[in-house]
Amino acid sequence: MEKTEGQKLEEKLFNNKKSGWENLKNDEKIKILDFNNDYIDFLNKCKTERECAKYAEEILIQNNFKQIDNIENLKPGDKVYYINRKKAVYAAIIGDELLEDGLNLVGAHIDSPRLDLKPNPLYESEGLALLKTHYYGGIKKYQWTAIPLTLRGVVVKSSGEVVDVLIGEDKNDPIFTITDLLPHLAKNQEKKTLGDGIAGEDLNVLVGSIPYNDDKVKEKVKLNILSILNKKYGITEKDFTSAELEVVPAFEARSLGFDLSMVASYGQDDRVCAYTALKALLNLENSKRTSVVLLADKEEIGSVGNTGMCSHNFDVFIAKLLDKTGQNGPNVLDKTLCNSKMLSADVTSALDPTYAMVDEKNNAAYIGHGISLCKYTGHGGKSGASDASAEFVAKVRHILDEQNLVYQMSDMGKVDEGGGGTIAYILANKGVDVIDCGVPVLSMHAPYEVASKFDIYNAYEVYLAFLRA
Ligand code: MN
Ligand code: MN
Repeated sequence: MEKTEGQKLEEKLFNNKKSGWENLKNDEKIKILDFNNDYIDFLNKCKTERECAKYAEEILIQNNFKQIDNIENLKPGDKVYYINRKKAVYAAIIGDELLEDGLNLVGAHIDSPRLDLKPNPLYESEGLALLKTHYYGGIKKYQWTAIPLTLRGVVVKSSGEVVDVLIGEDKNDPIFTITDLLPHLAKNQEKKTLGDGIAGEDLNVLVGSIPYNDDKVKEKVKLNILSILNKKYGITEKDFTSAELEVVPAFEARSLGFDLSMVASYGQDDRVCAYTALKALLNLENSKRTSVVLLADKEEIGSVGNTGMCSHNFDVFIAKLLDKTGQNGPNVLDKTLCNSKMLSADVTSALDPTYAMVDEKNNAAYIGHGISLCKYTGHGGKSGASDASAEFVAKVRHILDEQNLVYQMSDMGKVDEGGGGTIAYILANKGVDVIDCGVPVLSMHAPYEVASKFDIYNAYEVYLAFLRA
């Protein structure tokens, strides 16, 4: 049927929202589903920042990236990486243009909210052995009770020997859990607010109940657990003090929905952007500008510390690129950063129909509508926001429009409803042009987060287009 004048004008003038799945060809759908099968495998392997960094290093080596310190001179086309303290990853492909003319950066983070074991975690109480935890990042504590949990990380003995720990993933492994009160006796607990119902000190992980067979011993259950750990890992209670053991959900990453259109998993903030950014770099060819993908640690606690984005380690990596291409000199590092452009690849909140009251619908991100650009984050009167300039937003739009890529532009929640931040401002402070650009997620920071397979594949395409531009 012939379109009316009004319909034609509407098509031309309106910024209409629609699902990316609409009008997708069958082969495109298959491509999206295949890509997500690999992504699901990755999520099941990598539930900590260390595991993500290790995975990234392996896949970078397979794709001919070399450890930067093993290379004397760099020329266009060379591929290098650096792993910062086993927890953060910087990888680059040298372009034809001078580095001081600017880099194309995509930066995500690989740490996720979780429970860390305290330095003296193990105790016995009323015949049960438990582990004390200290939560990491923004969690709703009640969500972490009565779910299956795994324990992963490292114990480093004073000799320097590193013991890898991974319990609860194999079907033959035990899992752990944090107990909660039965509803029958929760009359007073249920009167508390959602935020107060479970306290930080209530997040104690149940790990055993069989006493050691010796009446002379006081804490028999604790001793039995230590004896098991000593046999398996050769560790003593003191070794917990130099350990990084993380308690994370044992849930498997799975396809979600009758139509298999979504992925449910722990840790999609921000491993969804980390995975897609890394994939984009691996599939990048012949770029004019030098491309860098960085996977940061400690974003969830403010990007602090020597593996977080605030540390100088990233600048040192860029300085090495300048040195080894023979392009370093006075102020060249600053010049390079000031001429660079970046996508801060971090997830955003997707509109949830059950909780739509926190969003302003015209400026919310929608599941399945593609990657979401956020011009600014922050809270209150844009406090703490890195606000991308109109000129830079236009540049990014141009890159995506040229490739006919789907994307949306959103704000996180209603004004004064709350807010959030990413690594964007840290790079912006160095002079880089940055905009947040990530996958919209439901139940963000929960033990099981949801993202759309369309958006996940779209993120990969968007990052690739940006690195290429
Ligand atoms: Mn994030
Ligand atoms: Mn987060």
